[in-house]
Amino acid sequence: MARSRQRTEELSGWGRFPVVRGVVHRDEDLSRACAGAALTRGLGRSYGDASLPAGETDIVACSVRADRILALDEARCVLRAEAGLSLAALEALLTPRGLACPVVPGTAQVTLGGMVAADVHGKNHHVAGTFGRHVRALRLALADGGEVEVTRETDAELFAATLGGLGLTGHILEVECALMRVPSAWMIVETEPVTDIAATLTGLAEASAGWPYTAAWTDGLARGSAAERGYVLRARWAERDEAPAMPPAAPRSWRVPPIPLTEALVRAHHGRHFARAARRRGPRLVSPAQVLHPLDAFAGWNRLYGRGGLVQHQGLLPGPDPGPAVARLLATLAAHGGRSWLTVSKDFGAAGEGLLSFPAPGVSVALDLPGRPTTPALVDALDALVAEAGGRIYLAKDALTRADVLRRMEADRLPRFNAVRDRVDPERRLRSALSVRLLGDAPAGGRAATAAQRRRRETPR
Ligand SMILES: Cc1cc2nc3c(=O)[nH]c(=O)nc-3n(C[C@H](O)[C@H](O)[C@H](O)COP(=O)(O)OP(=O)(O)OC[C@H]3O[C@@H](n4cnc5c(N)ncnc54)[C@H](O)[C@@H]3O)c2cc1C
Repeated sequence: MARSRQRTEELSGWGRFPVVRGVVHRDEDLSRACAGAALTRGLGRSYGDASLPAGETDIVACSVRADRILALDEARCVLRAEAGLSLAALEALLTPRGLACPVVPGTAQVTLGGMVAADVHGKNHHVAGTFGRHVRALRLALADGGEVEVTRETDAELFAATLGGLGLTGHILEVECALMRVPSAWMIVETEPVTDIAATLTGLAEASAGWPYTAAWTDGLARGSAAERGYVLRARWAERDEAPAMPPAAPRSWRVPPIPLTEALVRAHHGRHFARAARRRGPRLVSPAQVLHPLDAFAGWNRLYGRGGLVQHQGLLPGPDPGPAVARLLATLAAHGGRSWLTVSKDFGAAGEGLLSFPAPGVSVALDLPGRPTTPALVDALDALVAEAGGRIYLAKDALTRADVLRRMEADRLPRFNAVRDRVDPERRLRSALSVRLLGDAPAGGRAATAAQRRRRETPR
């Protein structure tokens, strides 16, 4: 049976900007797919160009056919699996066993390799840290073709650089990580309406003092007295005596028709959604998917942003009192005429060991910006503010940040990351569109992009 296929394809991240061409190698044998590849990608749920090739001739290994569970030790709560295993498949396996993945991002449509390479965080970052904290071992295919088992003990620097390293230190073939026991297959959730951004941040901090899962949504399109309205979500696993014996039905997904939305339609939707959230009081018993991966109920929602795609700007405003910086961020957005169709805030606990991981103490604000010709200038302004505040951006979401701005934000961390790359990949055989844009890697040896192609790539339509 032919299980290996290589062909040239158009590729994008979840934001559908930029769109590039590259040679995709799909193979259920991930070692074979990675041989000669410049990058590995999973389910393409990073938003910008982190999972995109640096040029048409670069090979991108796609991991999703390599999805076998290699070991599940239920007594010790340890899993080992191939990097292409999806979180959705993993959750379906774990839930009936009273187990869960200790850190999950807002979508289950990600692979284990992608979770390591972005060092993802969840709504429980303030108690559980990033996914990397729970990773025990990685099997990597290095740029020179050799394969190594990497742990904190065997090579602490390579291990730390690979957590959040966006595939630039090696192809992740296998992941061994800790799991956690959960008392039931259900969660208890509460939402608290808030009227402005100061109340949002206070509510988030109060919620995180007592609850393991927290996040806040702000209606970025509301006007007048409703501007900045939102709600804070707090959730926990339901105890056994609070939950039905039956697990919730498997999460269902409604395919969104690929018809671009106008801002007026989104505003009307938010009007109903936020008003309903404001009426809801008291605890509700829900399926974990409703808390952990709410947007997965709407398959293909990224297409609602139309031809220009979606640019997500996720910045960390650091420190114990990030309120003034968050207010300045939203004021900058408004001053540039920008609108965020969805704004999600999350407070973070201590930073982990990943050399380029995103979370650190402070508040993360994610702005979903429709791709327009003016979006690069808007992102420049938002980045300047984040840099000024001493913060950083989440590279797995980024498409437009400039190299000099990243160097400013990451002046302390980049040299350590680069030193690991110098050791394991001095010729920079592993590279991506992002690493060319931000880290100074050479573009693929193929045809140089024309000025028109560059403009198309760098400016949303
Ligand atoms: C709706 C939505 C909600 C999200 N919510 C969150 C959130 O709450 N928290 C959060 O942290 N993130 C969040 N994300 C981002 C997402 O979790 C990350 O981008 C994740 O990396 C995507 O996994 P993937 O398998 O799709 O990886 P891809 O997008 O395919 O790749 C992401 C990066 O990982 C690298 N990579 C992937 N697989 C491998 C491998 N086997 N070996 C080496 N490198 C590899 C790629 O080269 C690329 O640099 C969200 C994304 C979406 C679409």
